[in-house]
Amino acid sequence: MLKIDKAEEPQEFVDFKKTHPKQWDEIDNVPGLKKRLRDYLLEHEQKINSSYCCVYCERKISLERSHIEHIKPKSVYKADTFNYQNLTVSCQEDKDKVKVKGLKRNLKTCGHYKENRFDEAKFINPVLDYPKDFFTYDITTGNVISREGLSGKEQGKANYTIDLLNLNHAYLADTRTEIINNFRSIENREELLYVLDHFDQFPGVVDFFRSEYLDIWSEMHAAT
Ligand SMILES: [Zn+2]
Repeated sequence: MLKIDKAEEPQEFVDFKKTHPKQWDEIDNVPGLKKRLRDYLLEHEQKINSSYCCVYCERKISLERSHIEHIKPKSVYKADTFNYQNLTVSCQEDKDKVKVKGLKRNLKTCGHYKENRFDEAKFINPVLDYPKDFFTYDITTGNVISREGLSGKEQGKANYTIDLLNLNHAYLADTRTEIINNFRSIENREELLYVLDHFDQFPGVVDFFRSEYLDIWSEMHAAT
């Protein structure tokens, strides 16, 4: 999960809210506003190197293949429908698009998987919380897991959030494993650091590798 540092709310959205919209769909009354807002969120809050990443799964997304995600579901938290602090951008569901072990699978995760289920007390909010404090990775499975040393309550939050967003879908886990294995196979330290610096998706995995795996990598390659 990305850490979202909210940028200044775009003026066009502020102006639109002065018309007192009640339903989210009313945003379509201003042609193109929804897309411009999505573009703004991606450009200012979810850009990793030159790419845009999904707030939850961290895979690369595009302006066309993404949607504005209400962290607190708008159907339940009506007062937060137009609250800029509640808006981020998440991936679209991919139907039949991904292959896991040779089989076509639907990739339904993140905002579209979560739908209207939401327990505010348990959800790790990328705007308010620091996801890095809660999550790390299992290097053999590629799964997101809760960090060691968390309290029982914090661990519960991490696991609840992982399940609610389906962050350990086999496609995501396999992709993370592949990325980690690619990093591991790089022989030269300069090259590895360059690749880590310029990698344009899954910043959590990059960060994990840099902060928790670099020493192991050094030992592995010193021995050969
Ligand atoms: Zn996603």
